[in-house]
Amino acid sequence: MTNHVKSYNENQVAVPQVQDIKLYIDGTFVDAESAEVFDNVNPFTNEKINQVASGGKGDIDRAVKAARKAFNGEWGSLKVSERLKYVNKIADLIDEHIDEIAPLESYDTGLPISQTKKMVARAAQNFRFYAEMVSSRLVGEVYQVDDEFLNYTIHKPVGIAGLITPWNAPFMLETWKIAPALATGNTVILKPAEWSPLTANRLAEIIHKAGLPDGVFNVVHGFGENAGAALVAHPDVELISFTGETTTGSEIMKNGADSLKQFSMELGGKSPIIVFDDADFERALDACTWGIFSFNGERCTANSRLYVHEKIAEPFTRALQERVRNIRVGDPLKAETQVGPLIHKKHFDNVNRYLDIAKEEGCQVIQGHVSSEFENGNFVPPTILLDASQDMKVVQEEIFGPVIAVMAFKDEEEVIEKANDVRYGLAGYVWTNDLQRGHRVAQAIDSGMLWVNSQNVRDLRTPFGGSKHSGIGREGGHYAFEFYTELQVIHVAMKEHHIPQFGKN
Ligand code: NAD
Repeated sequence: MTNHVKSYNENQVAVPQVQDIKLYIDGTFVDAESAEVFDNVNPFTNEKINQVASGGKGDIDRAVKAARKAFNGEWGSLKVSERLKYVNKIADLIDEHIDEIAPLESYDTGLPISQTKKMVARAAQNFRFYAEMVSSRLVGEVYQVDDEFLNYTIHKPVGIAGLITPWNAPFMLETWKIAPALATGNTVILKPAEWSPLTANRLAEIIHKAGLPDGVFNVVHGFGENAGAALVAHPDVELISFTGETTTGSEIMKNGADSLKQFSMELGGKSPIIVFDDADFERALDACTWGIFSFNGERCTANSRLYVHEKIAEPFTRALQERVRNIRVGDPLKAETQVGPLIHKKHFDNVNRYLDIAKEEGCQVIQGHVSSEFENGNFVPPTILLDASQDMKVVQEEIFGPVIAVMAFKDEEEVIEKANDVRYGLAGYVWTNDLQRGHRVAQAIDSGMLWVNSQNVRDLRTPFGGSKHSGIGREGGHYAFEFYTELQVIHVAMKEHHIPQFGKN
């Protein structure tokens, strides 16, 4: 395996050593058929990190052939217990390398190292969790039909899973899909986001080391419209699990329609946090600040709309501004950094465009501080949009950066209506010490996930996904089985029973 550490910084964080990266197909690291490459850029400096093989239709085709061969061959014929040994082995190897994968992720994405360490640990848990879930919860049902039949259900792997992932928490999100796909017996082709390719290849090295048969796991880097589109359109890929923007999800569904793919769609969000006047002020403030500014604000479940009761709106907003002034913005590889640079110059421009729109729409834009020594990076300071109102673009659209729009409300009815008045429905947060109101408001919000008096903590057993334009279907827990397995029912006659006689003399 390649050496991934160049040196250690003063916090003993590994400074990554990165080579050019290739595709991983059929157990081998290979160039793209076209020999094309693209540059991968460090968001902290905007300097080139390395070159990445740019896959296309031919490469997807090679990966599909390898994945099919493995599915029909060695992988498909393994005992479940043997398959799960591999899945657990992947978890062990990730755990062993957290201190070197987390810096690689921070280097590639600009996410602070204190946060990527937790995400990489979570990635290992994803594999361990699904090994456990498959052995304990992948169960069928039996129906006794009088004394004539026994009907029972079994779960079978679907085949080749095409997994298309975004750049905002790449390693964690990739493993969130790969773990259930492999544990249930499918083979995988991963198409990682083009702006964050590094840890996907590190995972390929780990999976290679874990000894999975060739072709079970493949990585095809490349652009969405090229490698991604070819994966979606391929007639021999049975399912696509996609995480990314809502508009991309809709295009993917259109492109996959001809080959009748199964889809799981984890899409964008514009989630509300509602703070009532009886809420625990400090804890609500902690959760609100973390929920929008962690992961550089590039978080699908970020609370990007704050609705605060008018009685506490002034002190709460003032306290939020104070927090924003104190957030430590800086080098993602430094242990003390709380907010790093945005993933890419294009995304940085996009977020800044929204800040211009906010001003045009009449918001007061309050920002934290970024030191001038970081001017080469894609830094957007933590930002609060005051005087926001429901009809503004910055309230309706996902900005996907460290930007929160603030609005005051009078009563429960009004805030529920406003919280639901966007096209998204991914997550929501309610803060109140009135138990009944907590449940009432939680249930009235249109979202796949809702937290009451809590920041975003997730138990892996619970369903994950969004309603409205935030997604279709649920992953997580046993819910992922509905997508990654094919349910078959077997009807067995237990005795002779009446069969209609056709064409018999
Ligand atoms: P994106 O939609 O631009 O890209 C996601 C992936 O899709 C990338 O790998 C890209 O190459 C690929 N892609 C793009 N066009 C494609 C096409 N035509 N065919 C096939 N693949 C294509 O999203 P992004 O900018 O990488 O990620 C940010 C978005 O992801 C935000 O909207 C965020 O809310 C969302 N997100 C959602 C969740 C969730 O669980 N709901 C989690 C994380 C991120």
